[in-house]
Amino acid sequence: MQQVQQPKQARQEKAPINWTNMILFTVTPALAITLVPAYGWINGYDAYEWTVFVILMGFCGMSITAGYHRLWSHKTYQAHPAIRFIFALGGACALQNDVLNWASDHRRHHQFVDDNDNDPYSAGRGFWFSHIGWILRNYESAKNDFSNVKDLQRDPIVMWQSRHYLALVLLMNIGLPALLGYLHGDIIAGLLLGGLLRLVLSQHFTYFINSLAHIWGKRPYSDNSTARDNTLLALITYGEGYHNYHHTFQWDYRNGIRWWHFDPTKWLINTLSRLGLASGLKRCDPDKIERAKLDRQYQLATARCKKLAVTDDWHERLEQEYQSILQTVQLWAEHRQAWYEAKGKEWQERLSLLERQQLRAHYLEVKYKLKLQKKRWQTVLRMLTTPQPALA
Ligand SMILES: [Zn+2]
Ligand SMILES: [Zn+2]
Repeated sequence: MQQVQQPKQARQEKAPINWTNMILFTVTPALAITLVPAYGWINGYDAYEWTVFVILMGFCGMSITAGYHRLWSHKTYQAHPAIRFIFALGGACALQNDVLNWASDHRRHHQFVDDNDNDPYSAGRGFWFSHIGWILRNYESAKNDFSNVKDLQRDPIVMWQSRHYLALVLLMNIGLPALLGYLHGDIIAGLLLGGLLRLVLSQHFTYFINSLAHIWGKRPYSDNSTARDNTLLALITYGEGYHNYHHTFQWDYRNGIRWWHFDPTKWLINTLSRLGLASGLKRCDPDKIERAKLDRQYQLATARCKKLAVTDDWHERLEQEYQSILQTVQLWAEHRQAWYEAKGKEWQERLSLLERQQLRAHYLEVKYKLKLQKKRWQTVLRMLTTPQPALA
């Protein structure tokens, strides 16, 4: 078989190896898959040791998702210094670099998403690169540039973590698991489960968001990037699997917007806010979300029409339904706003009970109208997605 020659230029593009990361990301998984089962085979692990593992997994994971990601990178809410301090410790435990580096890379990821020259972990360069390859070599696209995190340099906790990062990493990855193991009479089990296995798994679970969440799943809100919504990934990433929504509305503190979406990070932030430890939680207006979804469905349906070469009548029907549902969404947004304002203290005094009841009735009326219209819209879309002779 003839060997395909790799272009000379592509071979020369290999960036220099980052030996610290290369050794760390090769040795720790190798030790985890050998030492952890071997020690378990000889000595076994008990419920206490597994509990420490689960708690530290959650602590590291959520410090990254609620702290590094939604708080520091995107500023979707504000947090009490005590919470920021805990997230800074958890982030060092997760060993994913300090807040400054992480947030700077991540802000560039959003700004230049899928741009192979400027997105530090561009999915366009393949699964391996976006998952971990970008960390193993000193690529130009991931070079340090803190010009986009000047706001974070004013946060004393961020700067304190940056100054003492190595000491905190050792304390959280060796000191803490060893102490928890010592308290239970088995330092090695504590280090293997709470230290090693937890470190490797928590790192790769986070990295799946940069790799798999840009490859596998649906794009219900926008096709401006490769980011995808994937419920299965949400299960192991503390809710970060709704990545298409996140890339479309990155200022929202939620990634899973429905109450039943599995997003423990959103629940944590919400609980912190109820306890007075977080404030200013940002949410995207529901009508904007609705419009983004409708635009995307319309875009897909139009492409489908072209592919099936349907008649002009169907094109027109699709267009009419689309314009009509957009108008209802607009109406719904206005009535919703009016009713929410009427519920507020200021308007409660100015409006009579009857007037407020009228506003509520109008809002519920439009809400119901939108519900019916959505059903009709879905029917039209279904008819377009299942090829039928009647359409042609
Ligand atoms: Zn993000
Ligand atoms: Zn992304």
